Amino acid sequence: MLVHIKEILRDAGRRKYAIGAFNTVNLETTLAIVRAAVAVRSPVIVQISEKTIKYAELKPIADVIRTVARHVGGVIPVAMHFDHGRSFPAVRECVDAGFSSVHIDASESPFEENIAVTSQAVSYAHRFGVWVQGELGTIFGKEGLTKLRAGQDPSAYLTDPARVREYITSTHIDTLAVSIGTLHGSFRGRERLDLSRLSKISAAVSMPLVLHGGSGVAPAEIRSAIRRGIRIINIDTDLRIAFTKSLRRSLRKLQTNYDLRTYLGPATAAVQEKVERLMVLFGSAGKVNVSAR
Ligand SMILES: [Zn+2]
Repeated sequence: MLVHIKEILRDAGRRKYAIGAFNTVNLETTLAIVRAAVAVRSPVIVQISEKTIKYAELKPIADVIRTVARHVGGVIPVAMHFDHGRSFPAVRECVDAGFSSVHIDASESPFEENIAVTSQAVSYAHRFGVWVQGELGTIFGKEGLTKLRAGQDPSAYLTDPARVREYITSTHIDTLAVSIGTLHGSFRGRERLDLSRLSKISAAVSMPLVLHGGSGVAPAEIRSAIRRGIRIINIDTDLRIAFTKSLRRSLRKLQTNYDLRTYLGPATAAVQEKVERLMVLFGSAGKVNVSAR
């Protein structure tokens, strides 16, 4: 059942667990994510990126999420979110397409410019009751790693707890993506969270905090982050890895089989299994009381 993201976050805040925000790219990954939510009775955020919009087109993929939420999700709350909108027009399109939450990412711009771009997105989105995620501090991917190796101080890119309150009161965002040591992608064993920084950010604001680059972070660190106020954890790479590994195995084994379902079925199931495990780790599993709804 498609719901506004605020409904999901209200309960997560009250009972202090985190919601997985899982990136989808097509019907198969959407089915996997929503089936997992149904199987472990967890609320869930399904999100898409600009790359996915280029790949699947905005309205078709938005309709896929909506229809899977309704016909597969049943009573399970599913919220639709736009991840890493880099420009106001991109965000506006997703507000218009019926998303209940959008991320405006101007985090690589100077502080004042980040505030200006984010405020513009907020004033448009709030007219339609849509929530906005802002980002303070930059969360890098592989390209960023090279930048950092070039001798720049990595902590300069982390969220500055002293500026968080000003950022929020100037922009009126609803959720905040923080940079506390994760990277986009999976770098198993190499990502350490700056938990004391997270505690300082949490103490400064009362707003759901979002952890990007959650793939590959050690479970103990994830649990500590949730205790310190992380309410949304973005997962993309882990799902791609599960899907692709399964697909490779099938293709190697079944050289003369041309039924796509033979390959896509197990790959979808592999993603579902991964999502279920993460929902248990995040504490969102079992939080939907199926009989009461
Ligand atoms: Zn991200």
